[in-house]
Amino acid sequence: MDWEIVVGLEIHTQLATASKIFSGASTAYGAPPNSQASLVDLGYPGVLPVLNREAVAMAVKFGLATGCTIAPRSVFARKNYFYPDLPKGYQISQYELPIVHGGRLDIVLDDGTVKTVGITRAHLEEDAGKSLHEDFHGLTGIDLNRAGTPLLEIVSEPDLRSAAEAGAYMRKIHTLVRYLGISDGNMQEGSFRCDANVSVRPRGAAALGTRTELKNLNSFRFVEKAIEIEAERQIDVLESGGNVVQETRLYDPDRNETRPMRTKEEANDYRYFPDPDLLPVLVDEALIERIRAELPELPDAKRERFIREYELPQYDAAILTGQRPLAEYYEAVVAATAAKPKTAANWVLGELTAALNREGLDIAASRMPASTLAALLDRIEDGTISGKIAKELFDTLWTEGGSVDAIIKARGLEQITDTASIEAIVDDVLAANPAQVEQYRGGKTQVIGFLVGQVMKATGGKANPRQVNETLRAKLGEPQA
Ligand code: ADP
Ligand code: MG
Repeated sequence: MDWEIVVGLEIHTQLATASKIFSGASTAYGAPPNSQASLVDLGYPGVLPVLNREAVAMAVKFGLATGCTIAPRSVFARKNYFYPDLPKGYQISQYELPIVHGGRLDIVLDDGTVKTVGITRAHLEEDAGKSLHEDFHGLTGIDLNRAGTPLLEIVSEPDLRSAAEAGAYMRKIHTLVRYLGISDGNMQEGSFRCDANVSVRPRGAAALGTRTELKNLNSFRFVEKAIEIEAERQIDVLESGGNVVQETRLYDPDRNETRPMRTKEEANDYRYFPDPDLLPVLVDEALIERIRAELPELPDAKRERFIREYELPQYDAAILTGQRPLAEYYEAVVAATAAKPKTAANWVLGELTAALNREGLDIAASRMPASTLAALLDRIEDGTISGKIAKELFDTLWTEGGSVDAIIKARGLEQITDTASIEAIVDDVLAANPAQVEQYRGGKTQVIGFLVGQVMKATGGKANPRQVNETLRAKLGEPQA
């Protein structure tokens, strides 16, 4: 039987507001337990939630960027359940009337085709606290710093057809929320996590199969692996004559397996009802237009512009525009150098990215300013230094800083371009390597590579390689064969 995998994701994005969604407590990460929990977050009786305006603006921004309809009126609801890290006994969320709904997002698949994924809705809600099981023998600690942190839950249609598509979609949402500046997307700190709903059906079947929900996946890789292994499990169950049970499961990355966590609640288990403490959220046209005007150039538009304006291959453009600060860095280099945009892309994606990765740095923390890289490219472009020397100079600039021209001068790195000096060195090399000269003349012309190498070595990499090649060929003459 040929099975088709069906996936829908619910992505929880922590919104980058300074304070919580219904209280003035700080959302900063890493404070001592319970030092950032106000009476509202602690669920004290008699206190009232007050909605954070900025969280609403961020949700609207996301909606506009994904072609969603912005609800002129949306409503907060109470989702009732008991858990130690939820002292109120309910989570404030949105249910029937979310702030935005009915959007879409394009993802690029491995074979280069573009697929449009439907976004069912995105709603505002508060996060719960955290239960801490380590450090307490036989006890559980409760940290309510996270309680009341604003989340945007982004729900996709069941449009994804493989683990790889789900991964691509999740990465795209991650790129987008960071572009929009509505989330830091920090996955280690839990600011971006996802539940994956997975089912399988015989290929060609119209109805969806019974799904399971994989909770709290906090890395792209885990999302992909969890979906793969869960789909395999479901296929095994079905092929051996069983039925998939609708339930919530947990992915265990150490064993690469999913395990049942609880049977899936139905919506009516939560006894949703409109929160009487909060007024409906009204979003008018003026607010929508103000937020629309603040939208940055979005990742797809930027990628297409990079391809058009800088004549970059799709691949380079996609990586450079994958992070807004990287795209901005690249454009700053291009604006400041006479080198070709493609050359600048090669250096940003090559040397610079390698240096950042070596030290685990973000582009924002780059030790080389865009202006320095631009100056370096200019000196290659105008022939002052060779490409080989440029790579060494890059490393020096990266570790020690300083100015490109000053270091070239101080260390005498200028390329040797004067014909007489190059000819003298070529003569020396030819005299010292009679065997290779013989081979070349006998028709084994590829030994010229070795001879070029010898000249470069003799000049400390400073000779102009094109000139060296030409000089060697002229002196060696026509090969015999
Ligand atoms: P709930 O609120 O109970 O989690 P929803 O109906 O809102 O359920 O769906 C949540 C997510 O599950 C959505 O992303 C949706 O696309 C996805 N989904 C629903 N049915 C299926 C299915 N049969 N297979 C895979 N994903 C599904
Ligand atoms: Mg769900």
